[in-house]
Amino acid sequence: MGKRRTLCDWSRDRIKNKADELLRIVDQPTFACRKCARVANHAIHLCKPMPLPRKQNLSDAG
Ligand SMILES: [Zn+2]
Repeated sequence: MGKRRTLCDWSRDRIKNKADELLRIVDQPTFACRKCARVANHAIHLCKPMPLPRKQNLSDAG
């Protein structure tokens, strides 16, 4: 059935063995997991995703 697994579920062995895939998932992070402190390009990779604040010019505060 659902074979999708979040980055949060990756085991240490998987992280080690799938390093290339990991780097693709996290190279442009826009979400962070508020439970596991991991980051990913897309929310689907995280169990409790929250959007990362965009890096903007500080003068754009508001
Ligand atoms: Zn998580």
